[in-house]
Amino acid sequence: MSHQSRVIPDPFEFARRGDTLSGELDARDLPRLAAALRDTGGEQSVSYELSGFRLDDKSFIEVFASAALIMQCQRCLGEVSCAVDAESRLLLVPRGESMPDEGLESDDFDPVEAGRDFDVLDAVEEELLLALPLAPTHGDCSVPAAKENGDDRSPFALLKSLKTKS
Ligand SMILES: [Zn+2]
Repeated sequence: MSHQSRVIPDPFEFARRGDTLSGELDARDLPRLAAALRDTGGEQSVSYELSGFRLDDKSFIEVFASAALIMQCQRCLGEVSCAVDAESRLLLVPRGESMPDEGLESDDFDPVEAGRDFDVLDAVEEELLLALPLAPTHGDCSVPAAKENGDDRSPFALLKSLKTKS
């Protein structure tokens, strides 16, 4: 399972056929993602699914990724478990063709240059990196950061309440 590489040989054909591809991996095998994680020796599982579709004569691949990661708590510097879900639509732009104009760019999708051998794990890693919490903290962190000035509504508590909503 580890150190696997996965490619979609022809991503445009993948989109045209409406194919799907799913799998699981260990986040520690994705180098850029691993750099943001605490390695506790155990697997940090990622499951992903890619599905292709066509819309307005354009080819898309939708990426879903869901991961159970271990990061460093920004309050106590201990380990904190983070459930990270990512979802994105990639617009496949054939190599050699110009990327969409800024004005045409939409929040609904991200244009990516694509040729043969679309790198699945690279796309999954990219989406997870974008979805990582900026300042992960424990829900009930043992460091009483708010006690110093007697204010329960510390910036951390506020951040925490914002995070649980998202
Ligand atoms: Zn903590």
